[in-house]
Amino acid sequence: MSQKFIPLSVPNLKGRELEYVTHAVKTEWVSTGGPYVNEFEEKTATYVNSKGAVSCQNGTAGLHIALQVCGVTKDDEVIVPTLTFIAAVNPVKYIGAEPVFMDCDDSLAIDTNKLLEFCKNECRLVDGRLINKKTKKHIRAVLVVHVFGNMADMEKIMEIADEFNLQVVEDATEAIGTYYTKGKYKDRHAGTIGNVGVYSYNGNKIITTGGGGMIVSDDDKLLKRAKHLTTQAKSDEIYYTHDEIGYNYRMTNLQAALGLAQLEQLEDFIKTKKNNYELYKEKIKDIAGLSLLEFKDNTRSNYWFYALNIDKEYPLNRDEVIKYLSSKKVQARPIWGLINEQKPYLNNQTYKIKKAKQYLEHIVNIPCSSNLTKEDILYIVECLKKPK
Ligand SMILES: *Cc1c(COP(=O)(O)O)cnc(C)c1O
Repeated sequence: MSQKFIPLSVPNLKGRELEYVTHAVKTEWVSTGGPYVNEFEEKTATYVNSKGAVSCQNGTAGLHIALQVCGVTKDDEVIVPTLTFIAAVNPVKYIGAEPVFMDCDDSLAIDTNKLLEFCKNECRLVDGRLINKKTKKHIRAVLVVHVFGNMADMEKIMEIADEFNLQVVEDATEAIGTYYTKGKYKDRHAGTIGNVGVYSYNGNKIITTGGGGMIVSDDDKLLKRAKHLTTQAKSDEIYYTHDEIGYNYRMTNLQAALGLAQLEQLEDFIKTKKNNYELYKEKIKDIAGLSLLEFKDNTRSNYWFYALNIDKEYPLNRDEVIKYLSSKKVQARPIWGLINEQKPYLNNQTYKIKKAKQYLEHIVNIPCSSNLTKEDILYIVECLKKPK
């Protein structure tokens, strides 16, 4: 029998998706009006325990709005990680602001030691504003990414933000369902600890609406402004009056129909993903030169993406592993090219970027869909055991 293709991360639509989408079509509520959008917002807020949620077209749009409701303007700078998907950083530029790139730590999230060092040594607090000594610009915010569903160190990040008066935007696009189980932020979900957080429901994420996103916050004012900006900044429901430049970013009822059905299954997906991760880990630990990156043990992670670390002992390097697995019909991918090395960002400031370069060289993401079977995992591990 010929081996079937095993994709990296694909949707799992075996719940009530068809039922809800059919209802949306039958009732002819297919656009941004319709009951599912509000319901999806409410249920998301309940799930992550935030004061409210504002839907949007995708995670990128959500981040664009999140930065604006935190007061980031074209004259500002935002500290961002360099090891992330470019959609985390592009919205800084959409606003006309500039990113300053930070290194990652061993969880692949922003290095909080270097972040603190940068704020202390390279910046100065002037009238409560953090001013970058080099550019003389106001650093308004730090944007953190919970990479692959693994929680960034929010305790340290919030302390630093407090000391240096920074807004905190959480790119939790990969981390819906991840929360602390211990410590100061026990029971708090990724996305709900900073000033504002954003989830994504792109097709490769743990739950999907085809394309979609959600902005969450505990600050009523921020939520209100986010809703305003995502719905064309109408200041009146009937007359066409607008008090600022808004966007057509609201989610449609069709997307929300999918989202509701997906949210009902999220906890099951996380259980499956955790089990699959444990199985991979158990099997991979016997292969010299390979290991899986850990998820933090003071959290319940959503186990979204599995990161295979390849060191020198293994006979193949990163690119060879990807090519080899592809020949075995297994889809694998490197992590993202560093954002500070991408053409639009070559002139932006960076701070001691070192670990990100190393991890980039050594990590490959391997199939992690919640559809993945035990047989799939055992097959992939067998391939990794005898590379030729
Ligand atoms: C997926 C993702 C985004 C963007 O989300 P979209 O819904 O695809 O726009 C942003 N940041 C990170 C880290 C992501 O993984």
